Amino acid sequence: MNNPGGAIAYQPARKEDEGMLTLTSVSERLRRRRDVRRAGRTQKAGLRKRCVVGAVAVVVAVTGALAMAMASGAGASVHCLDYPSKKNLDERKSGVLRILNTQNPAMAAAWITGSGETPPALKHEMDQQVKCLEIAADRGAGGPRGEDNHVVVSWRRDASAQRAIWDRKYDFTRPEDGKDGAFGIITQRARKRCGAELEAAHQWDPSNDGHRRCWLSLTPQERQTEILQTSTAPGVSRHHAGTDVDLFSTSPGEWVDGGERFGQYTWLRENAAKYGFIQPYTAASSKAHPAITEERWHWSYYPVSEAILEYIHANPDAMMRQLDNLWKYDPARYTEIRKTWKDYVFHVSHHV
Ligand SMILES: [Zn+2]
Repeated sequence: MNNPGGAIAYQPARKEDEGMLTLTSVSERLRRRRDVRRAGRTQKAGLRKRCVVGAVAVVVAVTGALAMAMASGAGASVHCLDYPSKKNLDERKSGVLRILNTQNPAMAAAWITGSGETPPALKHEMDQQVKCLEIAADRGAGGPRGEDNHVVVSWRRDASAQRAIWDRKYDFTRPEDGKDGAFGIITQRARKRCGAELEAAHQWDPSNDGHRRCWLSLTPQERQTEILQTSTAPGVSRHHAGTDVDLFSTSPGEWVDGGERFGQYTWLRENAAKYGFIQPYTAASSKAHPAITEERWHWSYYPVSEAILEYIHANPDAMMRQLDNLWKYDPARYTEIRKTWKDYVFHVSHHV
């Protein structure tokens, strides 16, 4: 890298590829297609513009919180890409992959691992689609919004934020916000090891002395396995790329069948794909080993996240270099995830 210590600069894609990505040019292509259709020819299937939520006044009527965000941005409108079928999603994924393949692999891997800049055109598209899903879910899914009256409760998280989470758990310290910091799901293995020290607890509790004694008796590898039940390491989170969002609430109990957010989950399953989103952590995907447990609140923008998976598959060395760079401050706390990160990355659902 020729800019040591500095932010990783984004290298523009080839001009023709860059052009394919911008929403403006998508709109232009759509206009051209409409013209072609008007001329009586058949329109080929592909991306088409779903809607433009135009004037701020209209948006304000839709959702106050979102309107503020849009009103402060340039243009104050949301252009939504519509995906009527899986074919449309896969066509867009192929387009994104072509863009990725024109990038410097180190820079692309830096973005994917949460330590580099997002390719601007992709960022714009993801931001727009997340807003489209947010507006639609707020209107259509019913049920209460989440923490602080938000629909999107978690979105982009860079590697340093994920490292803070990982280290807090690994070191068994309480968070600074005064919360108790209970985390994870205690494995059977840890229960066998510590027995009475853990009593009937479901989660690890850093403020409990018995839990602390047990935790300190675990090997670095065992600690990682415990953390990985419900969390992941810096560089490996799907929240790094900007493709993935948590909606409404991340409390599993609220999302169970018949729970207070089950109606929202039903709506998401029926409608999120129209905006390009799928649920990557499902009951089925969680059966692989190792894998993240089911998360009904976590939704992913398929055209970019699926392209990223193919990119990682084709460029594991560039990814590994970035991860080792993130973990070099203390490699001992990453021995287990270093062996298994690809399993966690690839053991996900692709189902639309
Ligand atoms: Zn999530």
